[in-house]
Amino acid sequence: MIITEMSLGTLSIPLKKPFRTALRSTDVVTTNIVALATDSGTVGYGEAPPTAAITGDTDGSIACTLATRIAPALLGRDVSELHDALTAVERSAVGNTSAKAAADIALHDLWGKLCGQPLYRLWGGTKRTFATDYTISLNAPDEMARDAAEAVRDGYDALKIKVGVDFRLDMERIGAVRREVGPDVLLRVDANQGWTPKEAIRIIRHMEDEGLDIELVEQPVARHDVEGLKRVTDAVDTIILADESVCSPRDAIRLIAMRAADMLNIKLMKSGGLSGALRICAMAESAGMECMIGAMMESKVSVTAAAHLATARRVVTKYDLDPPILCASDPVKGGVRYDGAVLSLTDAPGLGIDAVEGVDWKESVKG
Ligand code: MG
Repeated sequence: MIITEMSLGTLSIPLKKPFRTALRSTDVVTTNIVALATDSGTVGYGEAPPTAAITGDTDGSIACTLATRIAPALLGRDVSELHDALTAVERSAVGNTSAKAAADIALHDLWGKLCGQPLYRLWGGTKRTFATDYTISLNAPDEMARDAAEAVRDGYDALKIKVGVDFRLDMERIGAVRREVGPDVLLRVDANQGWTPKEAIRIIRHMEDEGLDIELVEQPVARHDVEGLKRVTDAVDTIILADESVCSPRDAIRLIAMRAADMLNIKLMKSGGLSGALRICAMAESAGMECMIGAMMESKVSVTAAAHLATARRVVTKYDLDPPILCASDPVKGGVRYDGAVLSLTDAPGLGIDAVEGVDWKESVKG
């Protein structure tokens, strides 16, 4: 199965309601779709949303890197030589992890189709279903409490609360949500780098003293302040989850060696795709550190890739893959199925995606 063409397009999916974090606000998922065609007629799909605030990658940089650096490295390659192809993607440019992720996902999709197996099975996984949490956007405390109550009514029993703007107001936000949903709902807090280390220690100790029963706090401090992250981790009893601080496998080496966090949040757009994510999983497992699998505001193409990884690796114990739930429509046919909070993988080969509708195809690079 020889790769003959890379097509690039954009896809926009409106959200049911605006999504707001300490870093950004959006009412639409805009993403870049990659299709790798082969001489057998099989097509592999990949995806890269622009997340300049997190990865530094924009629509322009993603499209340019794929067309001018990654496509020339892949065209003419045999899909059965997956490792060589993935290495070529990794070596095509420094950085640019989202563009690399799109190509890496499409290559894995083709590899699964070549082998006639879903990806999770090729990695030795047996589990097909798991439940995601549901994200509550950053807003005024009473609005967040209302959104949380609505999510619980809709059947979600694990919520991720976005905070990180005004730490005193954040304490109110978290308290208001806990009072509204009662003691039985699992609550996670994501500060998206919004606190200083001292603010983080103060607010987390306050949550502990108030008995708010928060399962974990994600990325309390600035991404580069790994020493500050460690100070927070060492100072509180609550689990601290690194997100923006752990992008590459090399970041993971440092965080694990320093024990700067209790857990790592893996996202394919940060790790440059599944191959980087698998390396982080292996390191975390070796260190006895559990992982969450998360996503940016992505369509179901790359979220399906993350779901295959999530079910195939026991070190992944927490799932934050709700972006397709937040979307008003689903243009991705096939792939992971959503039934409320529960995600199920099918036994279709590769990612199991049949088609991506509504893509504005813009560029094609042929070998
Ligand atoms: Mg996060």
